[in-house]
Amino acid sequence: MNKYIFDLHSHSHYSSDCKSHPKDIIKQAIQQKLSGIAITDHNTTKFHHQNYKDNRLLILTGVEVSTKSGHIIGLGIKEAVKKRLSIEETIEKIIDMNGLPIAPHPFDFTRKGIGKKIYSLEEITVETLNGSSPFDYFNEKAEKWATQNNLPVTGGSDAHRIKDIGMAYTIFENEVNNIDDAIEQIRKRKTTVGGTHLTLGEKFIRAFQIHF
Ligand SMILES: [Zn+2]
Ligand SMILES: [Zn+2]
Repeated sequence: MNKYIFDLHSHSHYSSDCKSHPKDIIKQAIQQKLSGIAITDHNTTKFHHQNYKDNRLLILTGVEVSTKSGHIIGLGIKEAVKKRLSIEETIEKIIDMNGLPIAPHPFDFTRKGIGKKIYSLEEITVETLNGSSPFDYFNEKAEKWATQNNLPVTGGSDAHRIKDIGMAYTIFENEVNNIDDAIEQIRKRKTTVGGTHLTLGEKFIRAFQIHF
């Protein structure tokens, strides 16, 4: 079962709000028995230009873009998308680069979710479990929206610290050998989410922190 578990949302020290070294991220992901991890730094793909590899772990490319109206992840892309474009323009660029647009933490205003803008998006994958969201309510609302509209789903830790890597994840029905496999399974709704949230105490602290 562990074979198909991926943390599809995480940050490295190439994100300005994160100090995690790529080697430590990889080590922790292996220790957490993940089969793979997507590094989705804020507005940069520098991590993916360093060619970090480990044969025990599949590292997927991606970036978390700060659009004019909140965060959108481009899973599978190797180049960053310009900041502060509209959500629609950002999604178009991600698709042009053969990536998968994901709305991370859509209803979490503490993490710059796109909020109500998601209601007008038809081709969007919804992150229904964000391990760093301070309140369950945000994830529950995302899950409800995805279920009601039969949208593809992902889960990820959104880890900005090593110890949070793998705390929330995506479970794939079939083996994932590369990024195209991963995107195809997500699109075909062959994914579910699993894992956990932060502890109550941590949530309380995080609720008053600002996410850049
Ligand atoms: Zn975010
Ligand atoms: Zn993030």
